[in-house]
Amino acid sequence: TMAAMAAALRGPGRRFRWRTQALAGGVRGAARGVAGQQDYDLLVIGGGSGGLACAKEAAQLGRKVAVVDYVEPSPQGTKWGLGGTCVNVGCIPKKLMHQAALLGGMIQDAHHYGWEVAQPIRHDWRKMAEAVQNHVKSLNWGHRVQLQDRKVKYFNIKASFINKHTVCGIAKSGKETLLSADHIVIATGGRPRYPTHIEGALEYGITSDDIFWLKESPGKTPRPGTQDVALECAGFLTGIGLDTTVMMRSIPLRGFDQQMSSLVMEHMESHGTQFLRGCIPTCIKKLPDGQLQVTWEDRTSGKKDTGIFDTVLWAIGRIPETRNLNLKEVGVNINPENQKIIVDAQDITSVPHIYAIGDVAEGRPELTPTAIMAGKLLAQRLFGQSSDLMDYNNVPTTVFTPLEYGCVGLSEEEAVAHHGQEHIEVYHAYYKPLEFTVAERDASQCYIKMVCLREPPQLVLGLHFLGPNAGEVTQGFALGIKCGASYAQVMRTVGIHPTCSEEVVKLRISKRSGLDPTVTGC
Ligand code: FAD
Ligand code: NAP
Repeated sequence: TMAAMAAALRGPGRRFRWRTQALAGGVRGAARGVAGQQDYDLLVIGGGSGGLACAKEAAQLGRKVAVVDYVEPSPQGTKWGLGGTCVNVGCIPKKLMHQAALLGGMIQDAHHYGWEVAQPIRHDWRKMAEAVQNHVKSLNWGHRVQLQDRKVKYFNIKASFINKHTVCGIAKSGKETLLSADHIVIATGGRPRYPTHIEGALEYGITSDDIFWLKESPGKTPRPGTQDVALECAGFLTGIGLDTTVMMRSIPLRGFDQQMSSLVMEHMESHGTQFLRGCIPTCIKKLPDGQLQVTWEDRTSGKKDTGIFDTVLWAIGRIPETRNLNLKEVGVNINPENQKIIVDAQDITSVPHIYAIGDVAEGRPELTPTAIMAGKLLAQRLFGQSSDLMDYNNVPTTVFTPLEYGCVGLSEEEAVAHHGQEHIEVYHAYYKPLEFTVAERDASQCYIKMVCLREPPQLVLGLHFLGPNAGEVTQGFALGIKCGASYAQVMRTVGIHPTCSEEVVKLRISKRSGLDPTVTGC
């Protein structure tokens, strides 16, 4: 309950011995930084997926740990609590709004199953947003309680380095706090990028930092960008009945299997999302009635066009939060091209006792579970007996577009590039989920493919699943693939009938055979 959480928060807090110093000008430069004399064994900068996991694990191992987290409001003024991107402006509100959209589809299905649903059905953004935001706030609170329970000291301050062992944090009130530690982990994540040189972009555009916290419906929305964030947001906005356009300058879902990503797009298009391919926005103007006039350019023809929208959402990638950390001063190297922190396999930066994990670290997938696992393993290496490294191979993931796309391992393109066309075998199927039949849903894009080595027993290199509950389906198979499953073993796995997952263990048709991969019958 809230009361119990409040008590938990009040209790252990006082037991900590920590130093807060109101800094007079000259003290700022004071170099502490003598090994073994620090306030903490571990200081984590950033209370998101990776940082919290690392801090909690280190505390479990008996170390004295502090976490600093501070949310700089978005340019539109949106702000939120502890827990980082995933909890507040990422996975969690996104999946809940995706669920809201899926429910709309199920209400459409319902009458086929005998439910009498009054028409027309209406969606209330305010109600959804409030419920989602309340859940997120409960998670913020839960994170604070967990830190208290594990005796991790939490500071709501914006940190930057003043020397290799010391960080200075500034609170909202302007009060400064000095914290020093033997080991410092940077887990500051990233923030949405705004385009430069587009008139009105910053003034009138919003990003994923704002969309989940809007009190009113965003209305008609175009969103430049075609990766996970853009397609997922466009998917749920279309799903709850909003007129949604995705403006894309190049290919969708770069880095994912391109056949799968074409099917994702095809499905979205057939369910009402509009796409402006090969276009880039050039100007946004606010009209007297408050609507936004967007001008864009077709990259091939050079032709300009305009449209009127209620909201413009930028989903053009993210910028790592390294600019305000004073990294240069302490010698932590970043890649100047993308501003990410350069790390080795042990997450060590160019300074031996400073580490970086999660979205801010170069070359890591921008996913919550990888940040969490990396954080835990780092704490275990630092303070436990472990030398285990994070393994970034076969990381499963799901794009929560209206028809979900789950994958693990190599795309077909990657498999061909690594092993050569001649050495891979791709098994595939177009299938119809049973629940689509009675509901008379179109299953044209429900498709699975498994990419294997051709030589027996045909090691599975990658699995790609497009259909309902793709995340749930993919997770289990990810274990098999991680354990080195072969096609032969998958074929000897008994299916669960009737499910969509069983279609994976029934994949008999290879692409090479040229046979029709459409599943018929039971
Ligand atoms: P973050 O979670 O971003 O945490 C960093 C924290 O550090 C933030 O709270 C930040 O405010 C704070 N901070 C930054 N600078 C400072 C400073 N100087 N001082 C103090 N604090 C600071 N991943 C999935 O696995 N599944 C999904 O479905 C998914 N959906 C997503 C949807 C969207 C819209 C977005 C944007 C991302 C999504 N992701 C998803 C990615 C996932 O959210 C991130 O990979 C994950 O949150 C990264 O964790 P992190 O610990 O690296 O950083
Ligand atoms: P992203 O993957 O970096 O994609 C950015 C997109 O914006 C690309 O399509 C890019 O096009 C386009 N773009 C960039 N600059 C542009 C400009 N100036 N004008 C028009 N288009 C522009 O970023 P993201 O979608 O924000 O996702 C960030 C990360 O979060 C992802 O890497 C992902 O791992 C993670 N995430 C995960 C999930 C999930 O697991 N379900 C969901 C959401 C996010 P080009 O291809 O032409 O460069």
